[in-house]
Amino acid sequence: MTTMQQIMLAKRPIGTPTKENFRFVETTIPEPKDGEVLIQTLYVSVDPYMRGRMEDVKSYVEPFKLNEVLTGGIVGKITRSKGDHLSEGDYVIGNLAWQEYSIAKESQVRKIDANLAPISSYLGVLGMPGLTAYFGMTEIGDPKENETVVVSGAAGAVGMIAGQIAKLKGAKVVGIAGSDEKIDYLKNKAGFDMAINYKTTDNIHQALKDACPDGVDVYFDNVGGTVSEAVYPLLNTFARIPQCGAISSYNKTGDDIGPRIHTYLIKSRVRIQGFIVGDYADQFQEGARELGKWLQEGKLTYEETINDGFENIPDSFLGLFAGNNIGKQLIRVGEE
Ligand code: NDP
Repeated sequence: MTTMQQIMLAKRPIGTPTKENFRFVETTIPEPKDGEVLIQTLYVSVDPYMRGRMEDVKSYVEPFKLNEVLTGGIVGKITRSKGDHLSEGDYVIGNLAWQEYSIAKESQVRKIDANLAPISSYLGVLGMPGLTAYFGMTEIGDPKENETVVVSGAAGAVGMIAGQIAKLKGAKVVGIAGSDEKIDYLKNKAGFDMAINYKTTDNIHQALKDACPDGVDVYFDNVGGTVSEAVYPLLNTFARIPQCGAISSYNKTGDDIGPRIHTYLIKSRVRIQGFIVGDYADQFQEGARELGKWLQEGKLTYEETINDGFENIPDSFLGLFAGNNIGKQLIRVGEE
């Protein structure tokens, strides 16, 4: 095989992205030069933050360029090496192009150990989403024993880990998610004390009030919007809000109005802090070690939704906004 597929940003989305924002292109598989490796893509991660990068606006990360190949978290296998440290057959992770094969300098990727954990988990529980949950919950949320923690987007890659970390710290944990299957997972597999389906519950504020009779001490927020509006009135004095994401507004056109949270913040002296996982880059090893230990001890569980086929990458990305995934959304592109 001498050619491969790649996926470019064809058009910047207005509102919810569609398949028209992506273009498949066939191109020649590149040859590695000295110091480089050729990597076969095995697992592609699709992540909500990529929606932000599709817009031409200033943010903590550069926008994707029009008519250029998209990039993201990828796990792959080295099929040719002209480097000194990495060999054929090694598994690596890196921020690589959405294409079936990539060339990288050895320093651009990190070797991962397939004997330690499934290679896909380095994109989920042991990777960026797991670390986001870990640092957001431990450094900002900092739940204490018997406190009440609410997690929105609770059945996603970050949310399900964040909630379990709060349980490990001795808190009572309530999750909010968008399907009965997710609610069942949270309550019966992930050990959440209570979970609420925000799509089918008539009065989400009342449901939360019932689930949190002692109020809310930590609100790990992945979604923002009306779900968060239902939580704010329940915040206890000195509550903490790790503001991890706001997916409910990523596809908004026009102004994102409300919520008016200032009186809640003042009355209850709430600390709300936005954060980016990269803020904790110098502690990543510590976080990954702790997550790995909990996994090994059976104290942490995780889920992945794996779709097959390179051609399904755009649909899998769009599915994040429809709530199609439980846990980390990945696409399997090649066999291990
Ligand atoms: P998820 O695995 O949680 O997937 C996204 C989920 O969001 C969907 O499954 C869906 O679940 C939910 N969702 C989609 N649209 C809405 C909506 N309008 N209102 C409420 N929920 C919605 O993704 P991640 O775990 O990777 O990311 C979760 C959040 O964390 C995102 O906001 C993301 O941007 C953020 N994030 C932040 C990082 C940081 O460094 N600060 C790093 C990584 C992620 P449901 O069925 O429940 O609606």
